[in-house]
Formats: sequence, C-alpha cells, structure tokens
Amino acid sequence: MRNIIITIDGYSSCGKSTLAKALARHFNYVYIDSGAMYRAITLYFLRNHIDWSTDEAVQEALANVQLEFKFNPERQQSEMHLNGENVEYVIRDLVVAEKVSEVAALKWVREFAVAAQRSMGQQKGIVMDGRDIGTTVFPEAELKLFMTADTAVRVGRRFKELVAKDPSVTLEDVMANLEMRDYIDSHRDISPLRKADDAIVLDNTNISPEEQLEFAIGTAQQLKLNTNC
Ligand code: C5P
Repeated sequence: MRNIIITIDGYSSCGKSTLAKALARHFNYVYIDSGAMYRAITLYFLRNHIDWSTDEAVQEALANVQLEFKFNPERQQSEMHLNGENVEYVIRDLVVAEKVSEVAALKWVREFAVAAQRSMGQQKGIVMDGRDIGTTVFPEAELKLFMTADTAVRVGRRFKELVAKDPSVTLEDVMANLEMRDYIDSHRDISPLRKADDAIVLDNTNISPEEQLEFAIGTAQQLKLNTNC
C-alpha cells in the first residue's frame, strides 16, 4: 500500500499534535512537529542575542543552526535537538512562545524550515502539523485537516500544560500569548495561517480526542481506498 501525506494546520493549542501523534501511531507514519522547529530556531536566536531585524544577522545565525528530531525510547516520542542538545522541553516555555511568531514570520527562517520539512516528506508516510503545511509545505498532500476550537477551551488546555511546569504562569498570560500568536500567524506576509481550500475543518470544542481520532482515521482510510494508495 502506498503511503500518503497527512497535514494538520490550525490555531495554537487546538490539539493538533495530540491528533497528529495518534494518527502517526495508527498508520505507523513519521510524526513531525513543525512548530518545534520554529521554537528551536527562536531559542537559538534568544540565547545568542541575534538581532533578527536584519537579514544578514538572520542568515548568519541560521548557518549555525542544526535541527534534528531524535526518537526518545523512554518517552516513546521524537524530540527536538538543537545543535546536538535536546531542547524538547525548554522550547515549550513561555519565554520562547513570546517571540516565536515574530521569528517564524521572517523570510529566511521560513525558507530554512520549509526546505527541511519538504525533505522530510519525500518518502511520504508522514503526519506533519503546523500553520502552513497544507498550503505551502505540502500543497499536494492527500489529506489535509484544519483544526479549530473555542478560544476559552484552547487557553484552558495550554494553561494546564504550562502551569504544571511553572506555577507562576497565569491564565491571562496564556490567553495573551495565544491571541498574539494567532494574530501574527494569520496576518504575516509569508505563508499566513489559513485553511487550504481542500482541507477538512475539525472543530473540537465539543468532541473528545477519541471521537476526533476516529473521524480522522476513517477519513484517511476512505481516502486511501478511493485513491488506491
Ligand atoms: O505549533 P506550535 O504552537 O508549537 O508553533 C509555535 C509557533 O511556530 C506558532 O505560533 C507559529 O508562529 C510558528 N509556526 C509557523 N509555521 C508552522 C508551525 C509553527 O509559523 N508550520
């Protein structure tokens, strides 16, 4: 059976990665968290005090950035490594989240990340989540999902994750960050967040992750049958 490409785009904290991981596990596909790449680049820029307002500084910095997903057998998940260091946890901090959308809007950063993402999809058999995967990275993908959920639900979910790591985080901080990222992500010049014309919308405000997974698996299976792939 031929492999397909599944893309999952949508707003911050819609549960994209939960669905993507589960789908990848079901079909024995590779899961790629494209947001982790933008987060790792942002972490590098912050740590090295890169002035990302100039193209030269950005290009020079990117020449020193090496990103790699490595499988962690203990946690049974692939984790982001930046220049050989496991940064999977530190890239989830609010400090990185505060700047990531600004960095991800830069032309050179997008070219760098998109080129790497496309090369990961060459063999197909991949589930990738992000903001521009169905529109820019893999416009030819066989199955495109676009996820959404009410803001309050999304804020609640992200707050739970962040406060477990840092009890000083407030609901207001999380809401402000989510709204800011969604705004920048959908209004930037290059590859803004938008639904691909042929994407299926999944609003998970009132449905469980299990129901959503069942729907996505059924759709993918149907598509594989119909297209004989
Ligand atoms: O998915 P996650 O919330 O970890 O992504 C972090 C940020 O990376 C997003 O808010 C967005 O600014 C950027 N991003 C992007 N394009 C993608 C994936 C993420 O611009 N494909």
